[in-house]
Amino acid sequence: MKKLSVPAVGIDLGTTFSVVAKLDDEGRPQTLINAEGERLTPSVVLFDQDAVVVGREALKALAIEAENCAECSKRDVGHRVFHKVLEGKQYPPEVIEALILNKLRIDAATQVGPFSKAVVTVPAYFDEVRRKATQDAGYMAGLEVMDIINEPTAAAVAFGFQQGYLNREGSSIEPQHVLVYDLGGGTFDLTCMEIRGTEFIALATDGDVRLGGYDWDQRLVDLVAEQFIRKHGADPREDPRSSGKLWRECEDAKRTLSTRPKATVICEHRGLIAHVEVTREQFEESTQDLLDRTRFTTVQTLKAAGLQWSEIDRVLLVGGSTRMPMVRKMLEELTGKPPDASVAADEAVAHGAALHAGLLLAKEQGLPRLFRIRNVNSHSLGVVGIDPLTKRRRNGILIPRNTRLPVTAKRTFKTSKANQRSVLVQIVEGESPSADECTPIGRCSLPKLPSGLSAQTPVDVWFHYKPNGRLKVRVLVPGTDRKVETEIVRENSLPKEHLDGWRQYISGVPPTEYR
Ligand code: AMP
Repeated sequence: MKKLSVPAVGIDLGTTFSVVAKLDDEGRPQTLINAEGERLTPSVVLFDQDAVVVGREALKALAIEAENCAECSKRDVGHRVFHKVLEGKQYPPEVIEALILNKLRIDAATQVGPFSKAVVTVPAYFDEVRRKATQDAGYMAGLEVMDIINEPTAAAVAFGFQQGYLNREGSSIEPQHVLVYDLGGGTFDLTCMEIRGTEFIALATDGDVRLGGYDWDQRLVDLVAEQFIRKHGADPREDPRSSGKLWRECEDAKRTLSTRPKATVICEHRGLIAHVEVTREQFEESTQDLLDRTRFTTVQTLKAAGLQWSEIDRVLLVGGSTRMPMVRKMLEELTGKPPDASVAADEAVAHGAALHAGLLLAKEQGLPRLFRIRNVNSHSLGVVGIDPLTKRRRNGILIPRNTRLPVTAKRTFKTSKANQRSVLVQIVEGESPSADECTPIGRCSLPKLPSGLSAQTPVDVWFHYKPNGRLKVRVLVPGTDRKVETEIVRENSLPKEHLDGWRQYISGVPPTEYR
């Protein structure tokens, strides 16, 4: 492989752990080690007076000063503020994500040299608002996010690389259908892909942005807390410190239960202590409904892809939570074949992102591309209309979910009165016919229409979904030369000045404070 002039870096910004990978001189993905010498960086931020600590130390602090720690911020991305007030301050979740990315960037730079270009991964099921927020987090962390790529797709690319598809002979390999089942710490993603040699084509995608290992931990916490209450009459979940410690203990016990039939959790609260034994059977029983949700989605996705189980060549396991035996058992029962755990569950996504970064950099430098990715949208895109009968706000779907990207759709609006100078379009994502049950992406005002238009003049609005699931809107008044690319006024997004302010703040935090 011809050498790239800048490093190809891929970042898996996970709910519970994050991973950074680069391509080596031979074009092979390699996980980078963080300042603590570890491959996985806990996605936890500790606000310790003026210092900001990210990673292992922050995770440890979760057990003793949970009130100052931000964990699972990825789950809140897309909301205005993080669910916890930290040292009396409210932070947008993407700022917390940016602090994590900044630590990852600084640590990676010690190995690859200073860099800014990177590819960041997102759950396939992330909507447009969350995708934008992730790109913004990258910007605030001093990165130039070349692209965002879906996590299951990245894992499939890493798999393709590992299987030797991404070479010249790769294109002659028989097409394969791969179902990527990605259960991480906080999100669940499922994508059905066709790998045609060097082409990675997403056929259908589904998931849940608020379902992951964290929910399994929570069930274990509840199980142990109930035993504690029975013994001591006090609830350890009520105190943030006892509950933070219990959470860590339970996460640990959950990992033990993946390899052993039972585990003991030590629970301490108000000077009282209980040793609670949990069997794998109890754990599986108390989390069965969570697993069933993933099972249901798996069946739905296969249907959406128009495939039968007999046509699926492999079920690829990605994400740390797929180590739970209950996941593997369920998938084997469902598909009739043992799932494939050949990619490194925790690192495959970052590896795929690094391969994608390498592809983009090669393209920039006029080098041949090794592979190609085709994506689908994970949520339907619609515009809000008012039902003339019920006067309710309806979601008029323009681009149904699982449509191959890039895609462009047109909707014609009519001016309601003569000489109308603007039209307001409200854009939503979601499947519900009721606009109020969908995610508002933003409003798009179509200003400066030419003067003198008569009432009922058609105004064409073009929605263009880019391959990475980001949206652009263009407006055209037929018969005139009026063509505008309009900015979407976002409901839940930081304005540019705030992004710049945070970028400056984050760049000013000395790297030592990230240790
Ligand atoms: P990821 O986001 O892919 O890094 O996955 C992290 C999630 O995987 C966390 O919820 C971990 O608790 C979970 N996890 C990691 N290893 C294991 C294991 N051996 N058994 C069960 N869950 C695990």
